[in-house]
Amino acid sequence: DTALYAAKRGGRARFEYYSDVMDTKAREAELRRAVAQDELVAYFQPIVALATGELRAFEALVRWNHPVRGLLGPGEFIDLAEETGAVVPLGAWVLRAACREAADWRATVPGAEPLRLTVNLSPKQVAQADLVQTVEAILDETGFPPERLTLEITESVVLQPDPLTVGRLQALRDLGIQLAVDDFGTGYSALSYLRRLPVTVLKIDRSFVTGIADDPEARSVCEAVVHLGEAFKMNVVAEGIETAEQASALIDMGCEIGQGFYFHRPLPPDDATALVGRQFADLGNTNQRAAT
Ligand code: C2E
Ligand code: MG
Ligand code: MG
Ligand code: MG
Repeated sequence: DTALYAAKRGGRARFEYYSDVMDTKAREAELRRAVAQDELVAYFQPIVALATGELRAFEALVRWNHPVRGLLGPGEFIDLAEETGAVVPLGAWVLRAACREAADWRATVPGAEPLRLTVNLSPKQVAQADLVQTVEAILDETGFPPERLTLEITESVVLQPDPLTVGRLQALRDLGIQLAVDDFGTGYSALSYLRRLPVTVLKIDRSFVTGIADDPEARSVCEAVVHLGEAFKMNVVAEGIETAEQASALIDMGCEIGQGFYFHRPLPPDDATALVGRQFADLGNTNQRAAT
């Protein structure tokens, strides 16, 4: 009985395994097709000066406009993309789309303080031998200036920095691109590694910002990251700010830049363009008043 039970169980486990593999293959194929057929959309979340709300940058965040399931967030497909490697063409697609869109923003607001663009890079992308060529080709094609681009890497990349990775990241820096560590604080980056990488920005993970008002540990992590930024001469950006209280706690500890639903949700491209237009119209009026 026991043997039979074990065999059945084993059989079912095997069946589930194969069906999972098939399911993964099918879903990967669907995702790759979606990339090729432009079913993706880059949304843009504003990154602002916390004290004034002034627009500083936009983070590109991918969405999938699925023909049947509607608009999907990255939570529904990015892990699969990473596991299967589909994130490599997906990431290039997002970078291209975001640079193209952001290059137009510059054209509509001549003479104003340039807005930055930040785009996420997955660990699989960072591991590609041709990462730097891919990024360079997209910058050439879209005309977006590298000095205004920030690429966000994950803390897992910081934890295992093999020499080839460090070389690629340095090559991106040499192009004038800034490098941020995303979701900082969640992965216990060794400080020695952090120093050895050509990183220029630390993004405090949302989980710490969420607890900033009533969880002393979360608060301490936020303070620690701000101090680390000062010590290493890196910029610090807070993410996931949902309340005025969180924004002012961050300002009090010396964090000046952030993003979150309290300021803006990620916006579809047209709304982002409209926001840029309004922001620069306001700035134009202010400058005119100052001049007269
Ligand atoms: P992330 O890069 O840390 O992006 C910030 C995420 O936090 C976004 O979720 C954003 O919508 C969300 N967020 C921003 N402010 C708030 C807030 O105040 N409250 C809450 N609850 N959430 C907030 P989203 O767009 O769902 O993206 C999730 C993650 O998927 C991203 O986290 C990033 O790791 C990944 N991702 C998104 N787009 C790309 C991409 O193009 N390439 C890669 N490799 N990963 C991407
Ligand atoms: Mg990010
Ligand atoms: Mg983040
Ligand atoms: Mg995050």
